[in-house]
Amino acid sequence: MPETKWQVTVDKDLCIGSGGCVLRAPDGFELDAARQSCARHEVMASSDAVLDAAENCPVEAISIVEEGSGTVVFPPED
Ligand code: SF4
Repeated sequence: MPETKWQVTVDKDLCIGSGGCVLRAPDGFELDAARQSCARHEVMASSDAVLDAAENCPVEAISIVEEGSGTVVFPPED
């Protein structure tokens, strides 16, 4: 079965630089010089750590979309 790939983005207008996502998913996120988070890769393998980081971002700045299908993984749609 092919590995699921995610497109992960951080909304820099929302990010407050808490660093939580970097601690939870160091392979997925890094802080830039302005202490704002960005995804290490535009497309990455799906991972519990990255989803955990998105779920625990205090300002819901992280979005995850499944590559190909465009299915929204996070934030959950109402
Ligand atoms: S957890 Fe959210 S607010 Fe904190 S650095 Fe990551 S994206 Fe920014």
